[in-house]
Amino acid sequence: MMKNLSREGAKIAKAQRRSWPLEAQRGVTKAFAPLRSLRLCVKSLTLTAVVFICFGTAVAQTKTGQRAHASMSPEAKALLEQAIGVVCTQAKLDPKSSVAIDEMQARPSLPLQSPEAKAGAERANRLLPVAKELVISSLRQLTTEYAFQNNRNFNTRLTQAIARVNSVKRVKPDMDSRDNASVFLSRPHVITFGTIFLAGLRSDEGMISVLAHELMHIADGDNDSLRALVGAVGNKASDLTGLEIHGQRAEEVTCDLIGAMAVRAYIVNTPDYESIARRLARSIQHNCVELDEGDEDHLSPRNTIRALLALNSGLVRELINDRF
Ligand SMILES: [Zn+2]
Repeated sequence: MMKNLSREGAKIAKAQRRSWPLEAQRGVTKAFAPLRSLRLCVKSLTLTAVVFICFGTAVAQTKTGQRAHASMSPEAKALLEQAIGVVCTQAKLDPKSSVAIDEMQARPSLPLQSPEAKAGAERANRLLPVAKELVISSLRQLTTEYAFQNNRNFNTRLTQAIARVNSVKRVKPDMDSRDNASVFLSRPHVITFGTIFLAGLRSDEGMISVLAHELMHIADGDNDSLRALVGAVGNKASDLTGLEIHGQRAEEVTCDLIGAMAVRAYIVNTPDYESIARRLARSIQHNCVELDEGDEDHLSPRNTIRALLALNSGLVRELINDRF
């Protein structure tokens, strides 16, 4: 139902939005290349609702337009690659690591009553209030970092964005959504979450990162209220990585950045016996895919990690040093 709605919506979506027939694309994937996957998010306008869908599925392989890292020193680039190594090594060593999105996409559907899906749904609903608070504080932090705090127009939009985040009330598990998570802005109080996705995020940190990603889409809303901030994040990521990160790509990277910031704050607030690097890695390690492909609207998963770490040099240091 929801996917059909989103497909209908895609037909009249803004030109720059993803508009291919999603179900057909997924069918092709399963038949021919189940491992060629990418975490995708779609934001489509329908007659009755705006829907965001985030999911793992295959896409046609396209070049992501790499160029030299203009604004990062060789030392910074080496540290960044070392930090990626930490994230994706932890993906293999950590029993609570998040399953890579290509692997999730290849899994069979998971019934609502399966222990893993039930545990995931409980985790998501338990953490939703925390994730909302962390998204709001991370959004305020990002507003200051990008010097929008004295912009009256932006602050009005930020207040409305925060109200939208606060309006989300629960996570609804859904078997048919598989490895998707979605939100209809006409029903902004519910995040629909596929059972495979719920089960694949095996830690509080992994779950908070995806909840925060969805909540950031809700914050931006159907009018791209936060586009000034999103654009600034995208421009900075483009300059640092040499990748083209504008439009929808900038929104996705900003959602992931808010996710990583939210998880970092959560770890600071809830110290435990586990390694800090291991916990931090869970916020981005679902991108440690085997086949790394992107498209016009989305960086490839591994370039997503690259962009996030380029934007967040503190996280690079913390992953490498295993301390704050
Ligand atoms: Zn998204």
